[in-house]
Amino acid sequence: MAARSNRVLPALTPENQHFWTGGARGALCFLRCTKCRHFVHPPAPICSECLSRDLEVTAVSGRGVVYTYTVNHQSWFPGMVTPFVIAIVELAEQPGLRLTTNLVNCSIDQVKIGMPVRAVFENHDAVWIPLFEPAL
Ligand SMILES: [Zn+2]
Repeated sequence: MAARSNRVLPALTPENQHFWTGGARGALCFLRCTKCRHFVHPPAPICSECLSRDLEVTAVSGRGVVYTYTVNHQSWFPGMVTPFVIAIVELAEQPGLRLTTNLVNCSIDQVKIGMPVRAVFENHDAVWIPLFEPAL
């Protein structure tokens, strides 16, 4: 688990609870269409590929690559430690299945587009924030 940090936490809803709480069991979870197997993210009641409403919560490997990133130097609220990396990570399971996240457990100089990463979770009470670290 990554170290705790000050964050604005998401409101849990029936539609997004799987995503924000899967980290309690070490699982990065998305909705997946049972008809065409497409991962649907952000959570929606209908598959964006085949329009099926038959979606199920599915854990992925947590493995992916850095699609792109930027380095934040601005402290947006008291207690925010800077600089830090904001990244878009593309998951291994599906082209275009991407998360906006932070990279942790690596130096900023180490970050490269295409770098293999894996999910780690930062716990805040009921919420487990998916973050990513370099995959060795
Ligand atoms: Zn579908």
